[in-house]
Amino acid sequence: MRAHPQPSNYKMRKRIQLFMAVLLAAYVWLASMPVEAFANESNPAQEDQAIYQLLKSGKRPPQEKSYQTPEQPTVYLTFDDGPSKLTPQVLDILQKEGIHATFFALGEEAKARPDLIKRIIAEGHTLGNHTYNHVYNELYSDFQVFWKQIQESETIFDQIAGVRPQLVRAPGGTYTNFDAYYFYLLEQAGYTIVDWNVDSGDSTRANVPVKEIIHTVKSSPLEHEITLLLHDGAGHESSVEALPQIIQYYKDLGYAFAPLTSEVKPKQFSVGKPKWSRKMSLTHFEDLLQETKQYALAHGQPSPESDKAANQLVNQTQVAQAESAQTLPPAPSLPLQVNVGGGRGFTLEPTQYQLQSSRIELSLRFLVEKMGGYISWMEPVKTAIAHYGVYDVEYDLPKRSIRLFNLGKRVASYSMADMQMREGSIIVPLRKTIDLLGGRVTDAVMETDKREVTLAWHHLFMLNETPILLKNSLFALK
Ligand SMILES: [Zn+2]
Repeated sequence: MRAHPQPSNYKMRKRIQLFMAVLLAAYVWLASMPVEAFANESNPAQEDQAIYQLLKSGKRPPQEKSYQTPEQPTVYLTFDDGPSKLTPQVLDILQKEGIHATFFALGEEAKARPDLIKRIIAEGHTLGNHTYNHVYNELYSDFQVFWKQIQESETIFDQIAGVRPQLVRAPGGTYTNFDAYYFYLLEQAGYTIVDWNVDSGDSTRANVPVKEIIHTVKSSPLEHEITLLLHDGAGHESSVEALPQIIQYYKDLGYAFAPLTSEVKPKQFSVGKPKWSRKMSLTHFEDLLQETKQYALAHGQPSPESDKAANQLVNQTQVAQAESAQTLPPAPSLPLQVNVGGGRGFTLEPTQYQLQSSRIELSLRFLVEKMGGYISWMEPVKTAIAHYGVYDVEYDLPKRSIRLFNLGKRVASYSMADMQMREGSIIVPLRKTIDLLGGRVTDAVMETDKREVTLAWHHLFMLNETPILLKNSLFALK
């Protein structure tokens, strides 16, 4: 033993030196890290407090979810306050028209007419939650009451039809009823709040005449996606009567109909100053936050194990997105390369097109000129004519219709609801316009560093040919 004291001391000294070196390295490394790295080290209590303060100021945290934009313009019919004895008539009409809608039902009414809830589900419609009793001064006295009613209705829907609706519509809409806490807490519980962008006006007073409902709908703006507010509650006979004409109106304009899902970007009103006097203390907020988050965990995912990895990925992405949204300027827009076949193509600069989900919108004139055609504008009838090889395509703005001429002969008419006038240009969707010009989009790459669309043509002879002005199509307008 005595033969080796020195090596042992030596070893100890070396160990201490190594330890010190590691400490020093750790210190240097930590000191070099940006302060934000520590700020992101989340302290849940501090985080809740920060959110609480943000919400108190009436602001909502940025939304991180991305949604699908349908290619075809779409109407989401929504019926509130049912089910009532009128609901079967609404369901019959939808069935006859072959379309699906969304029913924001009341728990109280569902309890009285469970078979109608079953029928709504069985026929492929979406069931949404419209609270239990619709009594404003209860629901908007405190979030706790609203939240209890959502759960109460949800339990009823679950017992009747085995569904827990993810979509919630606030009685009276969110504007001046909700504050930022209501929005935030419901989102934490896993719900999507849906207002509307077209109000049929069928509940402005009792017995609104059918004519008035139809007039209101027809004078509302035509957006690419329309969430239309209607009612199937008691006393709304005129809504039922107006329904077939409303459906026909949108069908003629080229709209599709779809039920709402949580993948559809919800129409939501901005947070206005609530008309209800409410108080939200930090501790009350923290209690509610915990409760809503636990509820989401308990009811959100049917199989938590298999979804864990996916959830982690989603969380990471959300954090990354939230960080980049807060700390970095928006990602630079990219040019869009359009390949038109035969090795030819052109590039659209970021200012020359708009991208919504995978949908590309651009100026009709620009597109046609890039492809070697040209546009004439008929001011008296507000119609643009794209001349392109043997084709002439008339874009009739007031009628939102398109007429296709081949060698001067009218071969087809279409509705194109999503044709718009923006800053003096007609803006059209790329895919549909290419379809109409005799081509199709065969490939689309929309990545963070590359945007490219490839087109194929059924009529190759059209490319770069001298456009022929077809007088017949001009005469047809006079
Ligand atoms: Zn309602």
